[in-house]
Amino acid sequence: MLKGKIAIVTGGTRGIGFETVKTFCENGAKVILFGSRKETVDKALNSLKEENIEADGYYPNLNNYEEVERVIHEIKDKYGRIDIVVNNAGISQKGPIEELSAEDFEKIMNLNVNALFNVSKAVTPIMKEQHDGVILNTSSMVSKYGQPSGVGYPTSKFAVNGFTLSLARELAPFNIRVNAVAPGITKTDMVAALPEAMIAPLIKTIPLGRIGEPRDIANAFLFLASDMASYISGVVLSVDGLARS
Ligand code: NAD
Repeated sequence: MLKGKIAIVTGGTRGIGFETVKTFCENGAKVILFGSRKETVDKALNSLKEENIEADGYYPNLNNYEEVERVIHEIKDKYGRIDIVVNNAGISQKGPIEELSAEDFEKIMNLNVNALFNVSKAVTPIMKEQHDGVILNTSSMVSKYGQPSGVGYPTSKFAVNGFTLSLARELAPFNIRVNAVAPGITKTDMVAALPEAMIAPLIKTIPLGRIGEPRDIANAFLFLASDMASYISGVVLSVDGLARS
C-alpha cells in the first residue's frame, strides 16, 4: 500500500509509533523513525533488523525548530522526497490541577503540540514542491470529551485536532492531506504492565470488548497514508472500540 514512499514517524522507537514503523515497512515504505535519544533509536533499529526490516533513525530535539528543519532537509537530500509524516511522539500526565505546575503544563504542550507544529512546518515546503504529501497526527479519545484528571493531556489533544482540521484546509490546494487518528486505550508497554484487576474494569467500558492493540492504530495510519484515502482530509478517525462517551 505504500510501495516506494518515504515516511517519517516521530516517537517511532516504541509503542504505537514503533508498530506504525513496522506496518509501513511491511507495506513497502522506506521509514525514518525519530526518537528522543540515540540509544532508543539504535535499539529500535536493531530490533527491526532482527526481523529483517531496514529502517533509518534520527533523534532531533523536536522543540528546536532549526534542528528539526536541518534533519528534515538531511532526509530530503538523502532520499529525494518526503511523502508521509506521522507526528506521533507524545506524553501524558495525570493529577489534579492544583498539583500540576506551569512547567508540567508547558512540557506537555511543548511535545504534544509545539513539536507537531515544528515538524509539519519543516516538511510543508517540501511537500508543496512535490504537490503531494500526507501529514498524520496522533490524537486521543480524550480529545473528544476530556478526562477527569490531568487537564494538560486532553487540552493538548484538542489542539492536535484543531491543528489537523485547520492545516488540512490550508494545504488541500497543494494536494497535501492532513488527518489524525484518535486511539482509545492501547496496549503499549505501560498499559500491558497493568495488573489484570485494573484491566478488567477498563474493558467493561469498551463496547467492542477489548483493549486496542498498537497494530489497530498502525493500520488506521496505513490506510490514511495510502492512496486508498486520497479523497480524505481533515478527519480525526476514532480507533477506540467505540469507547468514546
Ligand atoms: P510510548 O510512551 O510507548 O511512546 C512514546 C514515543 O514518544 C516514544 O517513541 C518516545 O521516544 C517518544 N517521545 C517521548 N518523549 C519525547 C520527546 N521529548 N522528544 C521526542 N520523542 C519523545 O507511547 P504510546 O502509547 O505509543 O503513545 C504514542 C502516541 O499515542 C502519543 O501521542 C500518545 O498521546 C498517543 N495515545 C496513546 C494511547 C495509549 O493508550 N497508549 C491512547 C491515546 C493516544
